[in-house]
Amino acid sequence: MARHRKGSGKRRKALGLTDVWRTCVACRKRHVATELLRFVRSESGQLGLDLSRTLPGRGAWLCASQSCLTHGFNRKAFSRALEGAVLSDVVETQEMITRILKDAVKSQMGLAFRAGQLLAGRETVFTGVKSGEVSFLICAHDLSERSVQEVQKSVKEKPVFSCTGLLQAEIGHAIGRGVTGVLGLVGDDFQQSLPHASNLLQKWMGWSHPIEMDSELLATVGADMSSSLQANGGESPQQRSV
Ligand SMILES: [Zn+2]
Repeated sequence: MARHRKGSGKRRKALGLTDVWRTCVACRKRHVATELLRFVRSESGQLGLDLSRTLPGRGAWLCASQSCLTHGFNRKAFSRALEGAVLSDVVETQEMITRILKDAVKSQMGLAFRAGQLLAGRETVFTGVKSGEVSFLICAHDLSERSVQEVQKSVKEKPVFSCTGLLQAEIGHAIGRGVTGVLGLVGDDFQQSLPHASNLLQKWMGWSHPIEMDSELLATVGADMSSSLQANGGESPQQRSV
């Protein structure tokens, strides 16, 4: 197992910049461990997802990809890597992964929102983007094409933009608010954990939004967000939760 260390290991770990690499049991490609899913096998032969990547014992690593999961089951890669028969089937494992990854994102969103570090609702988020406060912008997967375009126009260079593998209703439920399509991360406490959990879920769901970030579009668009929002009947303004 190659482990290359640069600088202070403790600090890098704190920043989530670990450079431990692992190999996917299905496609055999190597990736940074934080981008992979780690599985352990229970005594009864059930496959468990070790999201913290810290459970003791043998682990099997997998790309956050449903095709690698299927491929891994087909070639009995989990049993081999974990040195014991795996009794879970592919469908229940797939459901377990989806549930755990979604719960992780929802829990991060809930904590960040209650800590006043997550803005919710388009107008509030766009105000935060304009003031330079928002560092990471999240769109629900089922946000309309027009809304995503509006968000993209607001982004320009900064902040980082991402669609998450959650629906508007799921985001709303996570933060105890109504249906919510757009979130903006502010403050420092969730800068690593929320984007990471959100990107991992999106990768797993295999969802990419129909409109990808287009730098040409961003460069040519100078529309004022507030007026375009009003014209399109945007969400009513929401107060920040702090
Ligand atoms: Zn793979």
